[in-house]
Amino acid sequence: MEIITDPVKCRLAIKTARHQTRVGLIPTMGALHDGHLSLVTAAQQNDQRVMVTIFVNPTQFGPGEDFDAYPRQLEQDAAKCEAAGVAWIFAPDKSAMYFPDASTTIRVDGLTRHLCGASRPGHFDGVTTVVAKLFHVAPAHAAYFGEKDFQQLQTIRRMVRDLDMDIDVVGCPIIREPDGLALSSRNQYLSPSQRVAATSLSQALFRAQAVVAEQPPVTVEKLVTDVRQEITMAEGATIDYVELVDETSLEPATGMIDRRLRLCVAVYFGECRLIDNLAVDPTGSVR
Ligand code: AMP
Repeated sequence: MEIITDPVKCRLAIKTARHQTRVGLIPTMGALHDGHLSLVTAAQQNDQRVMVTIFVNPTQFGPGEDFDAYPRQLEQDAAKCEAAGVAWIFAPDKSAMYFPDASTTIRVDGLTRHLCGASRPGHFDGVTTVVAKLFHVAPAHAAYFGEKDFQQLQTIRRMVRDLDMDIDVVGCPIIREPDGLALSSRNQYLSPSQRVAATSLSQALFRAQAVVAEQPPVTVEKLVTDVRQEITMAEGATIDYVELVDETSLEPATGMIDRRLRLCVAVYFGECRLIDNLAVDPTGSVR
């Protein structure tokens, strides 16, 4: 496995490899866990060689967010990638990714107004701009993203469609701890009691999914109220949002739940902000 830090060398490595193999790309911010490694496995099933990018992207963090505190552990990450059969890590530093006078931003309108876009202004501009840059620097055949960041996945799909980018975007299921908590690099910030309370997110989501699938028709408003109530009861939880949205537009739904929707939550435990989501479907056909 090769660790590349120079964007020019990165592009050359991918372009050369493309003559012989398919290449899969996995953009990450590092502090790799089994959620990230599930993307590696998915990529290896479709593509012969896999590149993981590790870059804590400053432009997607707002003032007062955890950019400085975000875990950085390249050595451990490299060992995990090596063991997983990754071909290259691309780990540039900030100066290799952004000119000091960089003045171009990629912004996807509409679906970034909701959910995390409402509570983290500018966040998705940072995400789409860095992902567009990575797609140019590492021109792979396909890129893999987790449904854990559902709004990010849908926003990147929209960017790729709207800008005719020549890359397949593949969404992969959320990997969870045995007690249901979605794996996240930020889980390591949780105190032991917060870690226990944090299971309330997935518990509330799975309960809501079962209610929609198994009970008589329920309204969006009732379901959201019930989920809010359940999470509020968890020790130290402060809800940022609980919303039931259309899976494509991410517009909030209203009224009777009569089709598949996505239930999305963001909750603070102290400084630590966790997100999670799940499909709900009155026909019961959720994977
Ligand atoms: P991050 O390093 O947090 O920016 O995440 C990099 C990629 O890994 C994104 O596409 C995430 O959606 C994905 N990811 C993070 N956590 C999980 C998880 N628990 N299950 C599946 N994918 C995940």
